[in-house]
Amino acid sequence: MVNKVQLESSGATDVGQMRSTNQDAFLIDEPQSLYIVADGMGGHAGGEIASKLCVDEIAQYARDNQAVFAGERKHPDPKVAGTLVEAVNYASTKIYERALEEPSLKGMGTTATVLMVVEDYAYCAHVGDSRLYLLRCGYIYQLTNDHSLVSEQVRAGLLTKEEAELHHLRNVITRSVGYQEEEDVDTTSLRLEDGDCLLICSDGLHGKVTDQELSLMIEKHGLKAVEELIKLANDRGGDDNITTVILKVKVSAK
Ligand code: CA
Repeated sequence: MVNKVQLESSGATDVGQMRSTNQDAFLIDEPQSLYIVADGMGGHAGGEIASKLCVDEIAQYARDNQAVFAGERKHPDPKVAGTLVEAVNYASTKIYERALEEPSLKGMGTTATVLMVVEDYAYCAHVGDSRLYLLRCGYIYQLTNDHSLVSEQVRAGLLTKEEAELHHLRNVITRSVGYQEEEDVDTTSLRLEDGDCLLICSDGLHGKVTDQELSLMIEKHGLKAVEELIKLANDRGGDDNITTVILKVKVSAK
């Protein structure tokens, strides 16, 4: 028997206190149960164009391949995860090709953290240093690994987590969507439980607010935490664009 899942979501993005443009983009596509955060980079509007293209092209690819996501199945289904990876690389090719057409956009790219819920399962495809978190029973879990220079050094035991948070190269990412035609895309999946919350955010949030604080704010404010979290990151300097998407999960027996 498959459980019935009801989702409620909210999302917001903010330019922050220091930047003149917002290069982050997010998407909440309820009909597809698809949620994306993208954090663009590149001069001459490249960052904005890359993140916007990224969310739009991934959503389009998912729509064009909706047959893959329809019907009951045994989870985790590698076809679902594989299609999300294809969607990210489809977007990557589109961004790359756009940069070839307009030389001033050369080198633009974006992170992409993509979440899709199929029946009672959540699937994530991920590139870069935006993050997906799970909040369950009062605990918070980071489900994605950052593809950043400092995170790789933490995983290799060369830096501590605390050193990484203050490192001057903490913003340098090692994988991005659109910088080249294809990229290595991580995937992860999990069965959802009643009361779960999922959070997707850019580094403008997780660089300013601790995991513990993310957890407490969402517990306290629910879906309204998107605004509260942005305010908190801004109160702490807001030196980057800030984006957050929250998903509340209700699971009941069919
Ligand atoms: Ca950022």
